[in-house]
Amino acid sequence: MDLFAVLRKLQQKSEAKILLVVLDGVGGLPLEPGGPTELEAARTPNLDRLAGESALGLLTLVYPGLTPGSGPGHLALFGYDPFRYLVGRGALSALGLGVDFRDGDVALRGNFATLGPDGQVLDRRAGRPSTEENQRVVAKLQEAIPRIEDVAVYFYTESEHRFLVVLRGEGLGDGLTDTDPQKTGLPPLEAQALDEASRKTARVVNLLSARIREVLRDEPKINGALFRGASRRPSFPSMAEVYGVRAAAIASYPMYKGLASLVGMEVLPVEGEGDAHEGKLKALRENWEGYDFFYLHFKKTDAKGEDGDFPGKVAEIERFDALLPEILALKPDVLAITGDHSTPALLRAHSWHPVPLLLKAPYLRRDAAQRFTESEATKGSLGHLRGMELMPLLLAHAGKLLKYGA
Ligand code: ZN
Repeated sequence: MDLFAVLRKLQQKSEAKILLVVLDGVGGLPLEPGGPTELEAARTPNLDRLAGESALGLLTLVYPGLTPGSGPGHLALFGYDPFRYLVGRGALSALGLGVDFRDGDVALRGNFATLGPDGQVLDRRAGRPSTEENQRVVAKLQEAIPRIEDVAVYFYTESEHRFLVVLRGEGLGDGLTDTDPQKTGLPPLEAQALDEASRKTARVVNLLSARIREVLRDEPKINGALFRGASRRPSFPSMAEVYGVRAAAIASYPMYKGLASLVGMEVLPVEGEGDAHEGKLKALRENWEGYDFFYLHFKKTDAKGEDGDFPGKVAEIERFDALLPEILALKPDVLAITGDHSTPALLRAHSWHPVPLLLKAPYLRRDAAQRFTESEATKGSLGHLRGMELMPLLLAHAGKLLKYGA
């Protein structure tokens, strides 16, 4: 089913404003069986009150049992089928670093590696260098290798052994095999083109790998590079075109701004460091009249979950709760609060568990859920939805969808 073809035909304008709040990785697990999840442990008077007036449900972002990355999780929330609208690993890194990444560029994720005298990989992570060491080597490479043939080469530090290369030039496809052999004792692989359009890219990547070895031959540990996930900047239909909305994104971290820009959202500037709660609210208030769809992202719930910091994640949920009255003061016609995946502190990682969804809108059915928690959400009137089913629901509640069929 091509839902976008249907939605393009059904879109209609309305004055109503939709606000989608994403608490990254908000879903959790109890530390021991029978205990509270992070959401259940948090003291959230404002969210509780709102839940009493809202409809709740559960959201499986991508597919039952699949653990979503933040990319597919967010694209699903924006209504984009995460199996159809894919962002390659290199492209996701480029978006995550917020570097200059244009249509036609190819981005590759690189690992610095240690190669032995015979060219075999001794360490796929080059002894996990410090990020400062990575920066030193990246500067050295950028100086020595500004281009390969007629293709400009840009190196960027990610962290530790991880870096990014962006290739810019004519005729670069991204159908390419990885050069990372995935184990030690083997030499790096040659990049192979998977299609005619990517032959030049494969040649450039292989020349680049050889040049990197030359430039780094006197380095004790970082003397080689392994590449994977070659990808161009994807070209997706915009939310304006598919849904007829003027959409804006309010987020602090580059990857989320990048994902929002991929679906055509206007990325609003946010003042302040880190999660910048006040800066985000200011951006929301100052731009409230200019758009009819807002995506508001908070990152720290996920970061604390990844750290295995249960109390820290609870505190971030409470921080959001304290902010909620100011958000509600804007009186969004349709408000959804949810996550892009679960990140239980217990697992220190993303997980496949569904996330709670809260929907506040004028026309709701009676709902037994009284808190924004995983267990209360199972009592909610929205039931259990797939991530990409949320967007049509928000549009309908905002009066932005015509009747389907006669
Ligand atoms: Zn996420």
